[in-house]
Amino acid sequence: MSNGQYFSREIETLERSDLDALIDERVRYTVAYAAGHSPFYRHWFRENNIDPGEIRAHEDLRELPVISGRTIREHQPPVTPAFEFLSTRWEDIFSIQETSGTSGTPKGFFLTWDDWKRYAEKYARSFVSQGFGPEDRIVVCASYGMNVGANTMTLAAQRIGMGIIPLGRCSFDSRILKNYRPTAIVGSVFKLLRLGRRLKAEGTKPADIAIDKLVAGGESFADESRQYLASQWDCPVYNTYGSTEGTMCGECTELAGLHVPEDMVHLDVYDPQMQGFIRDGECGRAVLTTLLPPGGKSGMLLLNYDTEDTTVVVSRGRCRCGRTHMRIYNPQREAETAWIFNNSMNRVDIESAVFQPGNMDYLSGEYEAFIGDGEVSGEVVLRISVECLDEGPCNRRPVEDTVIEHFLKKKPGLVGRYHDGSLKIVVTLKKPGELELFKMKGRPKRLADLRVPA
Ligand SMILES: [Zn+2]
Repeated sequence: MSNGQYFSREIETLERSDLDALIDERVRYTVAYAAGHSPFYRHWFRENNIDPGEIRAHEDLRELPVISGRTIREHQPPVTPAFEFLSTRWEDIFSIQETSGTSGTPKGFFLTWDDWKRYAEKYARSFVSQGFGPEDRIVVCASYGMNVGANTMTLAAQRIGMGIIPLGRCSFDSRILKNYRPTAIVGSVFKLLRLGRRLKAEGTKPADIAIDKLVAGGESFADESRQYLASQWDCPVYNTYGSTEGTMCGECTELAGLHVPEDMVHLDVYDPQMQGFIRDGECGRAVLTTLLPPGGKSGMLLLNYDTEDTTVVVSRGRCRCGRTHMRIYNPQREAETAWIFNNSMNRVDIESAVFQPGNMDYLSGEYEAFIGDGEVSGEVVLRISVECLDEGPCNRRPVEDTVIEHFLKKKPGLVGRYHDGSLKIVVTLKKPGELELFKMKGRPKRLADLRVPA
């Protein structure tokens, strides 16, 4: 931030060489702690013929195997009698959390009070980098459940001295905004868009409320949908990427990538196809390693953990905000990626085509897409459905053309397939409330691949 506010100034602005030295010291301590406290890592080092004492620097982590969510599930009940990732005594565990992930089987996750304080510190840094201070009151729409996010954000608010309104959902009465005059809301892009539409429909004017920033998290989004959200609320929207596993990266007011709190979590980028780590600027999966300060205790450590989210390291140089911690591109979920004719496409590619400014006079932004087999063998059909606003007639052709044009612009590898007819793109305009996803429970699935494998 240009006014020079930081939650932990000294550590957030460390010169790169000092930061790397601090990271390496923490890598050594964390690896020794893992080998000494967790049955899983004790066996893992032995099975892979690794002497934990030889892991001296963060580059050495790249020599270790990658651990997946499946690895965690295979080392917890009912597969094993005990939680083998647990890395402290039960007496030291403050909370037990769970992460659901894509397969549905929850992974047990254990946090000591020290872990909570570190999670809160990450969120606190992120909030302060977004201009939050004691004068702010924040509505937390993220759910207060087995996920760690909302709870540790609340602790972060306490550390900053700001007020919290712990609603845990976005479907709240607008009196909350009018009477308590919160200054910010944390929620997902689509929930915040819906909330904005509801306020507008109720006749709530911007002067009736005091929101001056939004924090979007919980899912990846296109820059176009963020810009549209910002225009609807007339305030900046900052991205926060958090997980129970302990990421928690946040965009600062410069909006130049998400800062990774490098002293507490080390992040590498891995290419599963190459089976190797890649260079800055290249796209791959974010692989994280928990970093503990010497003497620190943790309930559950992750070394080289595959987040199954793809990202790119934007820079390790100093940001205009003054922070030196590396910045990454808005991560996308690998589970929301599909392959068409050897081209990868993510749900976010469709989102960015839907949220083109010309479309948004007609559309709510809600969309869903299905990939299916065509009538002829080898043909692929991409069906994109978008929800129209009920305010006026939808202008069908321009919306269709804009979505297809911008989707192909994002995916130039598919242009030839589209023109020779082997890829059909069908855009359907739906009336309000008619998308399939509104009939589903839980997190909406906006991209489904329905093709029958050959
Ligand atoms: Zn910055």
